[in-house]
Amino acid sequence: MSRVFHRSLRQSYPTAVAGEGPYIIDSDGRRYLDACGGAAVSCLGHSATEVIEAVQQQVQQLAYAHSSFFTTEPMEQLAEFLIDRAPEGLESVYFVSGGSEAVEAALKLARQYFTEIGQPQRRHLIARRQSYHGNTLGALATGGNLWRRAQFEPLLTGVSHVSPCYAYRERLTGESDDDFSTRLAKELEDEILRLGADEVMAFVAEPVVGATLGAVPPVAGYFRKVREVCDRYGVLLILDEVMCGMGRTGTLFAVEQEGISPDITTIAKGLGAGYQPIGATLVSGKIYRAIEEGSGFFQHGHTYIGHATACAAALAVQRTIEEKQLLARVRELGAGLEARLRERFGAHPHIGDIRGRGLFLGLELVRDRDTRVAFDPALKLHAVIKKAAMANGLMCYPMGGTIDGQRGDHILLAPPFILEEFH
Ligand code: PLP
Repeated sequence: MSRVFHRSLRQSYPTAVAGEGPYIIDSDGRRYLDACGGAAVSCLGHSATEVIEAVQQQVQQLAYAHSSFFTTEPMEQLAEFLIDRAPEGLESVYFVSGGSEAVEAALKLARQYFTEIGQPQRRHLIARRQSYHGNTLGALATGGNLWRRAQFEPLLTGVSHVSPCYAYRERLTGESDDDFSTRLAKELEDEILRLGADEVMAFVAEPVVGATLGAVPPVAGYFRKVREVCDRYGVLLILDEVMCGMGRTGTLFAVEQEGISPDITTIAKGLGAGYQPIGATLVSGKIYRAIEEGSGFFQHGHTYIGHATACAAALAVQRTIEEKQLLARVRELGAGLEARLRERFGAHPHIGDIRGRGLFLGLELVRDRDTRVAFDPALKLHAVIKKAAMANGLMCYPMGGTIDGQRGDHILLAPPFILEEFH
């Protein structure tokens, strides 16, 4: 029996003892190229001096102060930094410790907004199948990943799911981007009407789907149509950028590439780049003001809200990305990596699709390229690939398996922005 309750009780893990640029080094001195940033977290690699110094300095000065007593400079400065660069309309930031907490806060903010403005009947959430929004119960109920939900289904209620914008498998033969996105937006509208147009609170989606599908970007125009549908019925649009945000797709917020603004956005992972655990929920001025003019108090809270050291780390991460112009680098390296993947695997008999944005790329694995039939989940392909990659000194993030007809064995790549050229 292990004293640490690890994720898997059947697996033994090497002990990570050091980090050096894009590498993690284990206690036997083996080096692993972190080509997935763990789970799209470590965007600056593992030894960013600027961030390490900022953390050291903050811990020495003031590690933590409870948010019900104080605000802190790092928290105020980080909020300022993010709002200055956020999509139009997002005006305030609520800090938490990770992605699931950010999503929980987003859901509760949406609900409280409607109670504050006198629409308490708005209680339904709509999200998408094959999505992941976190493992806490509210976030898990929102996600449509059946594998992650299966055992907990009785605890997960109140959310309905519509089709994801997953062109490889959901687009009908002959459908253009416009036809496809119009059909999906219509499906969302029908679901709103089915639930009751004035009873739906919010629609939740990842701009680029991460963990469940492996870097699936939307087709052009999809989010504009979704925004229109939400606006038509007064439904809030919550975009979960926990994985795809903070520069991963080549712009600070992935939604910048869609030409719309959400009402609420969640970020985490790349925000602190793993140097400290931190997440955040960004809200529109409309929501902030409704709560300010109403009860004046968000009925929610965690002990580590706005943790000073975590905020100092995140501020240093984001300043480093900006000062070193790493977003341009993400776009350049991402295009190079995608081209290399296409060159090497474009005709591979078991790679059905290569997709993604920036340094957020996915390869979908299929038994047969022509029929797009997935592998038998009993093969546990993701575990086999992960083990083989680790044995070869490479970290990648394979996920998938078929459950109830949901397909999508894939390998996710999310390497650090500081990588040199690919060879
Ligand atoms: N939302 C999305 C889109 C994610 O990809 C994840 C994690 O993978 C989460 C939320 C949950 O974040 P965390 O694991 O930090 O709680």
